[in-house]
Amino acid sequence: MTVAIDADRFRRRFDEFNQIGATERGGVNRPALSDANERARDQLVEWFEEAGLTVRIDEMGNLFGRRDGADPDADPVLFGSHVDSQYNGGQYDGVIGVLGALEVIETLEDADIRTDRPLEVVSWSNEEGVRFQPDMLGSGVYTDVFDLEYAYERTDDDDLSFREELERIGYRGETPCEHDDLHSYYEMHVEQGPYLLENDCSVGVVEGVYGFSWMNVAFDGKADHAGPTPMHLRNDALVATSDVIQAVRRLTAVGGPDLVGTVGSVEVSPNSINVIPERVECTVDFRSYDNAVVDEAVAQIEREIAAAAEREGLEYELEEIMRVDADPFDDDCLERIEDAAQTVGAEYMRMTSGAGHDANYLNTICPTAMIFVPSEDGISHTEDEFTEWDDVVTGTNVLLHTVLASAGGDGR
Ligand SMILES: [Zn+2]
Repeated sequence: MTVAIDADRFRRRFDEFNQIGATERGGVNRPALSDANERARDQLVEWFEEAGLTVRIDEMGNLFGRRDGADPDADPVLFGSHVDSQYNGGQYDGVIGVLGALEVIETLEDADIRTDRPLEVVSWSNEEGVRFQPDMLGSGVYTDVFDLEYAYERTDDDDLSFREELERIGYRGETPCEHDDLHSYYEMHVEQGPYLLENDCSVGVVEGVYGFSWMNVAFDGKADHAGPTPMHLRNDALVATSDVIQAVRRLTAVGGPDLVGTVGSVEVSPNSINVIPERVECTVDFRSYDNAVVDEAVAQIEREIAAAAEREGLEYELEEIMRVDADPFDDDCLERIEDAAQTVGAEYMRMTSGAGHDANYLNTICPTAMIFVPSEDGISHTEDEFTEWDDVVTGTNVLLHTVLASAGGDGR
């Protein structure tokens, strides 16, 4: 008989956990290093210990729970996600990956299965990046993307530092935040998009994550009175900005099937009803799984920005502040997930992710892949986030069999 998780136990635990920081509209408010995030961590530590895991907390507050393997010196299989949330975020994002990993451990305990390799469950610090930027800070330090001191110096809107707040909630651990050799890393997460449900699938085998470009754009024109200034004498920075917004939308229609583009931030000054906008700063975000498509979109929007500035008689500045290439996951890990989906009898599809995850950083140090479960209406980062529990259960069973295939032993 195929071993399977206890869906009811997992549900009870999920509901209990999401009472921490619960909002009236059915979401959770547990931003990184908040009081609610502290209570969520306390709960995880308690449950990890009850499940027989050896808990360790590193200097970034990343929380690990280890279960020894028959071969204690073998490289461990690491799996998990995060439990910090957006402000008034959803119950599923990150949470199912951590509690699902714990459920996998409990299932192995119940079935008396000892893997060859050690297993480690992880809950990463500050994945969301809403209170302390950048996001994925805990996994970023763990994988040497960021220095520890850089992370500690990040501040929130009240000028409280990551380090102070981590110490305040009692989660600045002793373990150095650095990675050991790992056999593999897996993360189950909600899709945050509509494709799985559109394709009647309960599981996504995530081949990799989109690459992206972030640009800052600024137009400089001339402030003047909105009444007496005739139209032909205006240098309106917001008019050029609106051309850029439209151009981004047009480019995504022809730039490639998966190209997405967003102008997500616009700051107008002086931002007054009767003054012509003198300066506008805005951002452009382009993403695709095809790096050449991002390259081309960036080249095109540069031309559009120059043309918009010229039409309106403006100076402009353009800076690409971040460029990350598409990140393909490990073929062997993907095959294990696909095999596990077949073992479990899940409807699955291969897909890519438009959003970044801790798995991106883990992918730079060890073989990595992700499992997606559907998001109702593709919605995430809000209290309305919803995934059918059956799909969470199916995804967690896929995680279970993926971990078993990776860790070897009598579970096979
Ligand atoms: Zn997440």
